[in-house]
Amino acid sequence: MLCPFCKSQDSKVLESRYTVDKASIRRRRECEACKKRFTTYEKIEFFSVFVIKRNGAKEKFSRKKLLKSIKLAGKKCNISIETKEEFVNDLEISFFANSQKEITSEILGQNVLEFLKNYSHIAYIRYYSIFQSLKTPSELVNELNSLLNDFSIDTSML
Ligand SMILES: [Zn+2]
Repeated sequence: MLCPFCKSQDSKVLESRYTVDKASIRRRRECEACKKRFTTYEKIEFFSVFVIKRNGAKEKFSRKKLLKSIKLAGKKCNISIETKEEFVNDLEISFFANSQKEITSEILGQNVLEFLKNYSHIAYIRYYSIFQSLKTPSELVNELNSLLNDFSIDTSML
């Protein structure tokens, strides 16, 4: 960052803060050469994340669509809307933090399944059967069996 006083390129950040609208970050800097202080603003770039489907098609990641699918799978499963939204928030933050611009539908689905597994096995199985595009019913049976084995699920919970 160029110092506005002496044009030195070395400055250290003293403080970073979001602006009120959270669209920029305001940084207070000190020039390493002349020790004068100045302020910079970084505009946050909102980028799109793309979901790559099994057939290779790309689709813009939609928070709304993901939430809808989670709500559908979690119907009557007592997972609060705040919990679901928090999950999607964390996912979006991780895209942003890792500058991730693409995710396969498979990995996205696995993320959702990991999340649902902690709250409701019914929601997990529903999501699995609706969104993991099963080819044969036996795939679902296999998944159910491995779920039962992995977690020694008390079948009364199902
Ligand atoms: Zn300077």
